Formats: sequence, structure tokens, C-alpha cells
Amino acid sequence: LDRLKSISLGNWILIGMVLGLITGVILNLYVHSQFIDIILIDNVFYLGGNIFIKLMKMLVVPLVFCSIVVGVASISDIRKIGTIGGRTILIYLITTALAVSIALLIASFIHPGAGLHMAGLATASNVSTNVTITNTILGMVPDNPINSLANGDMLPVIIFGVLVGIILAKLKEETETINKVFEEGNTIMMEMTSIVMKFAPIGVFCLMAKTFATLGFDGLMPLSKYVICVLIGLAVQAFIVYPSLMVIFTRLNPIKFFKKFYSVMLFAFSSSTSNATIPLNLEKLSELGVSREVSSFTIPLGATINMDGTAIMQGVAVMFAAQAYGMDLGASALLTVIFTAVMASIGTAGVPSVGLITLNMVFTSIGLPVDAIGIIMGIDHILDMFRTAVNVTGDAICTIIVSFKNKSIDLDVFNGKKQAEGSS
Ligand code: ASP
Repeated sequence: LDRLKSISLGNWILIGMVLGLITGVILNLYVHSQFIDIILIDNVFYLGGNIFIKLMKMLVVPLVFCSIVVGVASISDIRKIGTIGGRTILIYLITTALAVSIALLIASFIHPGAGLHMAGLATASNVSTNVTITNTILGMVPDNPINSLANGDMLPVIIFGVLVGIILAKLKEETETINKVFEEGNTIMMEMTSIVMKFAPIGVFCLMAKTFATLGFDGLMPLSKYVICVLIGLAVQAFIVYPSLMVIFTRLNPIKFFKKFYSVMLFAFSSSTSNATIPLNLEKLSELGVSREVSSFTIPLGATINMDGTAIMQGVAVMFAAQAYGMDLGASALLTVIFTAVMASIGTAGVPSVGLITLNMVFTSIGLPVDAIGIIMGIDHILDMFRTAVNVTGDAICTIIVSFKNKSIDLDVFNGKKQAEGSS
């Protein structure tokens, strides 16, 4: 019993994930009984997984709002907010542009779409989108903050939270009471996060078992080259680009980062949603010594506008479709793809499969037939899991770089020489 107790939550999540995967695959391959399908997969696993996702989502809006207000209000120099914001957005844009470029490069070597007869395969895709740059910018501006909070619209919530925080910082004594309310609200939400996270291993087990019992791996085979390209791109971004950026900009050891952070990646993988991963991401970054002053702003922002993994899928998908249709993409088309994929990443919400919807925008920008999206749709769920793990990693790496530049990271905590305040 003592041994079991000494297993960390991160490892329990890993155990839950692996057991869920094995259970799902076994059910998919060997057990074909309606009883199992209905009782176990569609009810027990479905409920277990979705109750957990709902609980995580329940935390997001109050946690993000309180923690942004408290974070911004605690910044003594208002100009610092501009610096943090500017740096964060710049790094988010650059890493996403890098991600699409890597994807385009990999796909131009592996040729995932070569030899595919598109006309035969394409099932009309009914994906439609109204994601445009104008709409995205307009969507950021809150008109009714209560509405935005109720709908969980992250960008307006962030902007409103920053405004409230700036005013609290400015008025100080006059608003002491409300400041305290937000601080205590933040403490409550952090405690609630730790409690909900205790159920993560079970939630993750159910999510994995349901996904793999339903999908299996069959669908992946015909599109194996496409899948391989996306996975290589994601691996390069996560394990080469991010660690390199971390070393170049901070000289911190990426292995120490991944040792603590892997549970966030596993959770993002199992749930396919960056948004629901925000509370865990914030918690782990605190354990790595990052001040909430920065992370409370950068993580929710990143979960909304920084989707490097999604951009990789979109880059590969463009090359895949262009090759399958025999279209030659020139330099200007490729630049357009990089630009629109960065914009699509901003417009992609951190929820399952939205990347496929914003892919429309990228295809249309260079005149690729959107029918091709119908082909990759069937296998997107599994790739969504991988890319969400990369999306949240990108947010965390950028946060570490920004907090390092901003001197808002406790290096002793990061290096394991001391424990983060408030952690047990
Ligand atoms: N599921 C992804 C996320 O939440 C978004 C996407 O690529 O569909 O980050």
C-alpha cells in the first residue's frame, strides 16, 4: 500500500492511459458483444471520461478569470504587462510559423499524398467555417463580459480580466476588498484543481478505453504516410524545436521540464482539449517555479491562440491534398499557407477537432478543394490527441521563456533545489 501511495499523480495518469489503451484495443479487436458495447463502452467509459472532462472544464473559466485578475493586479509596473503580452504573442506566432514550415518540409520529402486517386476517395466534406482574421480580431473584444464568461470565450475573458487587474493595480487601497475576493477565489480554484486532478487517472483510463474501443487502428493504415508525416512533425516540434528554444533563450535543462510536464502532455493527449488542460498546465508550471503573474495570462492565451501541433497537421494536410490532386505549390502559395495556418491557429479554439474546421480556411486560401478534408477526417481523432499534447507543450515552453526574460521564474524550484511554495 505504501508503495502504491508513493506513485506520483503523473505516473498514475500514465498508468491509467496505458491500461485504457490496452483495454480499448482488446475490446476493439476481440470482444464483439452488444452488451459490452452498450454497457461498458457507451455508458461506463463514456460517462467516466466525460464527467472528468466536464469537471476540468468547470474549473477553467473561474480559475482563468481569478488568476488573470490576481496575476495582473500583482504586477507593480503596468508597462510590464505590455512587455509580457508583446513577447508572448511574438513567440507564439514565431513557433507556429516554424511548426507549419517544418510540416511543409517533411511532407515535401515523404510525399504523403502521392499516388492517391483523390476523386475516388473524397467524400464531400461538410466542414464549413466562418473563421476569418477580421472575425477573430472582432471576437477578442468583449461586448458583454458576463456572456463571454458564461460561454467560456477565452479571448474576451482574458481581455476583461486584464482590464480588471490593471484597474485593481491602479486603485490599490480603494479596491482592497475586491482584490482579496479575487485572491481567495484564486486559492479556492487552485485547491479545487488539485482535488479534481486526483480523479485524472480514472478519467484518462475511461477516455482512452472509449476512444480505442470505438476507433481501433484500422482507419490509420490507408493513410499511413500522412499519419507518419504528422507524427514526425509533432515529434520534431516537441522534442527538438522546443528544447532548443528553451536552451537558447533560457539555458534551462529541458529534461527537467519534461520530467515534470509529461503528465500535462498525457492529459492533453487523452482529452484532446487544450482548454480543459489549462488548470493542470498552470499547476505544473507553478511546480516548475513559474510565477502565476505570467502563466495566468500566457497559458489561457496560448490555449486559445497558440496551436503549433494543429499547424503541423494543417501543413501536412495541405501538401497531402496538393500532391493527391497533382497541384504544384509555388513559393507564394507556401508562404500563404504559412500565414493562413498561423491565423488559423489563432482562430482554433482549444477543443477537440476544431483544427480540422479551420483547415478549411488554409485550403481555401490557396484554392485547394476542401473535399480532401473529408478523407483525413476519419483518422483525425487520434491525430488530434497527439497534436493537442504538442499544443499545450508549446504554451508552456513559451511561458517559461517569457517568465525567464521577465525574471518571474524561481530557478531553484525549476532545478529541483527547492519546492514551489504551497506544493506538498
Ligand atoms: N484539439 C486541439 C486543442 O485543443 C485543437 C485542434 O487541433 O483541433 O488544442
